[in-house]
Amino acid sequence: MPSIAIDGPSGAGKSTIARSAAAQLGFIHVDTGALYRAIGLFAHRAGISDRDEAALSAHFSEIQVELDHRGEEQAIFLNGEDVSEEIRKPEISMAASNVSALPAVRAFLLDLQREMAVKYSVIMDGRDIGTVVLPNADLKIFLTATSEDRAMRRYLELVTFGEKVRYEEVLADLKRRDKNDSERAAAPLKQADDAILLDTTGNEMEESVLLVIKTIRERGVG
Ligand code: C5P
Repeated sequence: MPSIAIDGPSGAGKSTIARSAAAQLGFIHVDTGALYRAIGLFAHRAGISDRDEAALSAHFSEIQVELDHRGEEQAIFLNGEDVSEEIRKPEISMAASNVSALPAVRAFLLDLQREMAVKYSVIMDGRDIGTVVLPNADLKIFLTATSEDRAMRRYLELVTFGEKVRYEEVLADLKRRDKNDSERAAAPLKQADDAILLDTTGNEMEESVLLVIKTIRERGVG
């Protein structure tokens, strides 16, 4: 099955772009950030520190994470409950970033991600898809934009969700997560050597979608 990896920092528009490109090209979109968010939510609800690898690992047998695709939207289930909206809350973003630094969590989620790419033609977005999850992907794209641009997108998204947040807080939070994601020892955010770098700063979302689709078509994957 053809697979396309899209990696990059928070708020570069990966998920929105990947979802739209997948819908237009007939691929399944797999948003892997949702998996880490589901584990972050589990830890948050269970009162387990999101940095305590041993405590969290001891609960893996009680955690079942499933992805479902109907139309363009990916839904994520944590032990049978649809948590697709709850995982988007800002406190869960930070928990997700923290649990994603734990090697045991990354190992726990690896098979699920690879199985999706065996079963379906996927556009999979995340941080380590091109480097770790699908090193043989047919095409790797690294999407980026300035932190201010990315924070503004995230801010507008959160406001649309009805969250009461300030832009400055979102920017500070994003910089903290960028640092967390790039400096962690386990699968840090890094552009794969063979990935194509696309900078979306200043673009309307639709322009970025077109740019990604053009890149995919030029490579003969889509
Ligand atoms: O992309 P999103 O913001 O939903 O990701 C949530 C968190 O999950 C990120 O902060 C990142 O640390 C982590 N993540 C990861 N590897 C992936 C996808 C997401 O470490 N493949």
